[in-house]
Amino acid sequence: MQKQTKAIHFDYQRPDAYGALSMPVYHCAAYEFENAADMVESFCGRSDMPDYSRVTNPTVTYFERKIQALTKAQDVVAFSSGMAAISNTLFCLAASGRTILTSRHLFGNTLALINGTMRRFGVEVVFCDLTDLNAVEAAISEKTCCIFMEIMTNPQLEVVDIPALSSLAHKHRLPLIADTTMVPFTVFDGKALGIDVEVVSSTKYISGGATSIGGIVIEHSVNPEFKQRMRQEMLMNFGAYMTPHVAYMQTLGLETLAVRYEKQTQNALLLAEALEKMPGVKAVRYPGLPNDAFHHVATRQFGARPGAMITMELADKESCFAFLDRLNLIRRATNLFDNRSLAIHPASTIFGNFTEEQRRSIDISDRIIRLSVGLEAVEDLIEDVRQALEA
Ligand SMILES: *Cc1c(COP(=O)(O)O)cnc(C)c1O
Repeated sequence: MQKQTKAIHFDYQRPDAYGALSMPVYHCAAYEFENAADMVESFCGRSDMPDYSRVTNPTVTYFERKIQALTKAQDVVAFSSGMAAISNTLFCLAASGRTILTSRHLFGNTLALINGTMRRFGVEVVFCDLTDLNAVEAAISEKTCCIFMEIMTNPQLEVVDIPALSSLAHKHRLPLIADTTMVPFTVFDGKALGIDVEVVSSTKYISGGATSIGGIVIEHSVNPEFKQRMRQEMLMNFGAYMTPHVAYMQTLGLETLAVRYEKQTQNALLLAEALEKMPGVKAVRYPGLPNDAFHHVATRQFGARPGAMITMELADKESCFAFLDRLNLIRRATNLFDNRSLAIHPASTIFGNFTEEQRRSIDISDRIIRLSVGLEAVEDLIEDVRQALEA
């Protein structure tokens, strides 16, 4: 069965008492048991009967199992945000005295988590250029506990050769953890690429229409200890499980994900091509453009149109602000892969509290506008950027 069909028709394990066609929202904290023995099985994690919604809830389980059916993963765990998925995964793997090997090109809060919060608990970090395998190999030590990467960095749009990095990680018996938020799991096979654990902000592509905050951890190839610790220790002790209402909304998003992605990436490519020809635009970055530095590696891994995020370079920061202020249709907002197209100046917002020196060290330029391309008719998007550039 094709993924899109599974995304629509995946059946829940138990028939609903009323025959509800979509998964009902189980807004409840606790569950009753028929007898003491059943209670023991559930509490000790030996049955799939829910006991308490901090760790299991039928609506959330449905969302998790649906993603598991689409990714063929060993397990899928849903969290209250992308950051919760990332932090729980890293706390599950790391320990005081161990090192996370990663790139400086990271989502801002992930960088702060690894470089600040986790350091306070004795976890160390080594940064290196993950596109340079010799540098990666030189950076690995006996203290390394994992390699953490993002499949398409934001806003640099850098793409790592995942199978090559994975082979290197596995040669040193290290798990490869990848933040795959930028391209949905419906269009690539994380396990075939060699990713051991995918962490995803489901706030972005999956929720669709930016309805809710959520995160997922997709376990492809993990040891039983990791799997057990994730549910028995992380969910229980950190308490960042997804809530049922969010699981409901994100399940609806999942059903239309592939169709939205198809249209949004078509729009992204057409808009990128149009922008390249517009006066005032110094450079356009989109890995779907044939002249992009990461075109080959990105399209080999993620298909002809990888993602729907574009960056454009203008003359200076003032031109960027003038452009943003003149937009009529494209919204001035953060977030990615909303149904609406969004524009932001990353250097002064997401990285606004960084020093110039810090911004330089992670390649954040103040001449860059980031566009997240939505589901509008592309002619209207092209017209909006055209008029906004005529300042
Ligand atoms: C948004 C985002 C996150 C964080 O996700 P939240 O759902 O906002 O917590 C992590 N990684 C990437 C690449 C993101 O775009």
